[in-house]
Amino acid sequence: MPTYTVHAVNVGSFALGETDKVLTMFSAERGIIRAVAKGARKPGSKIAGRADVLNVNKLLLATGKTFEIITQAENLETFPNVRKDLNRLSYCLYYAELTNHFGLGLADESASYFDFLCDSLRAQGKGDIDAGSLCLVFALKFLEWLGYQPELDCCVVCRDVLTEYRIAMFHYESGGIVCERCTAEEQRTKVAEGYSKVRQTSSFVKESMHITPLVWKRLILAASDTVPTGINGNDSPAIVRATEAARRVIQTYIEYRAGKNMKSLELIGKL
Ligand SMILES: [Zn+2]
Repeated sequence: MPTYTVHAVNVGSFALGETDKVLTMFSAERGIIRAVAKGARKPGSKIAGRADVLNVNKLLLATGKTFEIITQAENLETFPNVRKDLNRLSYCLYYAELTNHFGLGLADESASYFDFLCDSLRAQGKGDIDAGSLCLVFALKFLEWLGYQPELDCCVVCRDVLTEYRIAMFHYESGGIVCERCTAEEQRTKVAEGYSKVRQTSSFVKESMHITPLVWKRLILAASDTVPTGINGNDSPAIVRATEAARRVIQTYIEYRAGKNMKSLELIGKL
């Protein structure tokens, strides 16, 4: 059986047979790989610890029929600080869930994306910057990797340059911000077409989200920041709220692109 070595982050798994697990991993060498970890559900087995989600391993894989087979695994990183903090853990599981869902599209840039993912997990583990702010920066960069970078500088309808006085909606289908004038125009058209007031409101809300100038500024800042300086624990409550609102806009946009809700963040709202 031919074998090869990869460096990979565990991003998901499911049970196989009595004691095995199939791991979904994002590898630097080949992008998404699914491989069987034999005996990973046997308590105390050596591979069980390596098979946990978010662990980074160096693996020797054998080519199998349906899935690859893990023949050796050496643990490289486990992110213990992340695992101690439920809030940060939820965001990191979200990174893994996004990678699992969209990872096939990242095969061509697997080495750079692998580094980006590991760096993003380390940043959460470091704990000096607010977890939600880090997640916002991650999510915007992630969209850039996928080629779904949202349009934040110009209105997606009229292409006019946006200013803080001209912000109205984030429109999910168009992937960016619609200015105040185009939003008013759209609403007028819908009324003219005979939409009832209730229908008009509900259908528009599903496709878009109202955003304030402050939320827009947080989006611009996060999109331009490789290291998110300035978004930390010392920010005013208004900034913290706007950052969280910006994160939710981008989360919803990603879910719109994915066609489903991400489970990892359901907990965050309840914390
Ligand atoms: Zn416009």
